[in-house]
Amino acid sequence: MRTVLSPYFDAPGPARFLRRGNFVEHPDVAQRGSKILAGLEQAGCEIISVLPCELDLHPYILAVHDKAYVKYLENAWSNWSQMPDASTEIVPNIFPHRQIAQFNDNPVAMAGWYIADCAAPIGEYTWRNALGSVSAVIAGVTCLREGDAAIYTLCRPSGHHASQDKAMGMCFLNNAAIAAQELRKQFSKVAILDIDMHHGNGTQQIFYQRRDVFTISIHGHPANFYPFYTGFDSERGAGAGEKYNLNIPLPPGTNEAAYIPALEQAIEVISNFKAEASIVATGFDTFKSDSLGCFALESTSYNEIGRKIKSLQLPTLFVQEGGYYVAALDENVRQLVTGFENA
Ligand SMILES: [Zn+2]
Repeated sequence: MRTVLSPYFDAPGPARFLRRGNFVEHPDVAQRGSKILAGLEQAGCEIISVLPCELDLHPYILAVHDKAYVKYLENAWSNWSQMPDASTEIVPNIFPHRQIAQFNDNPVAMAGWYIADCAAPIGEYTWRNALGSVSAVIAGVTCLREGDAAIYTLCRPSGHHASQDKAMGMCFLNNAAIAAQELRKQFSKVAILDIDMHHGNGTQQIFYQRRDVFTISIHGHPANFYPFYTGFDSERGAGAGEKYNLNIPLPPGTNEAAYIPALEQAIEVISNFKAEASIVATGFDTFKSDSLGCFALESTSYNEIGRKIKSLQLPTLFVQEGGYYVAALDENVRQLVTGFENA
């Protein structure tokens, strides 16, 4: 399969990450992007590099995200950095209950309004990098629409925690959702299969009341795992979208033997839905030694995951979500792609 690279796939990551109250090095380090690219090259992927700002991405972004939120992201850092003694990255320190709070355009107030947690710091280049991810998925969708059977898009930052109007968990624009919306122009039913370690809460929120995009996420059980408040199996969609969202939470320590039946269940659901195209929100943080994960998948597990996904026989867009820097990250990527290609 061909691979579309965001122009900023190896840009420096955020400076700090809050983990159980401690500031630690941010797990989304720049080498992570290069390591994923190495895996794609080892799998024999032809690399397509997207140039920055080739086209106006607003129509694609606004098809999914709230206009005021997008405007906030665009201007957030310049407004923030004009405050005296402002940090180099925006991290909110107050989180309003929107139903009872009044909107306030103070930069600190806006940060809490539009950023859902402390894991999505906004720096000078965050908006630029987020646009780079969107340009990659739009290019990937174009390739699919022109006949590619499968495309891998290497996006940093990733997107699946970003909802219609909030950033969260290193995600600002929901790349998979934007791609799904664009694919809908050609395909009447699109499935999003999220195999990242964490629940794809933003993607779920965006399509929760729709039945044309089926969202499925296999992830660490939120009882003990981020994002804690969503990802339970009782969340099945609402209104017209009822029964068109499926969460498959799995316990800590889940290994391949326990994971594959969950994936088979997801694949059966996508098949019964009669999806015409699929998006795989692809995370490798399910790997046994990932710093943010709690599953126990091996490198070879990704080969089997790729094989199972191929069995859907659908035009497939892999969209990069998580999976942090470990020595085996390139091998995990290679296994997924070759498993898919050789099935
Ligand atoms: Zn993740």
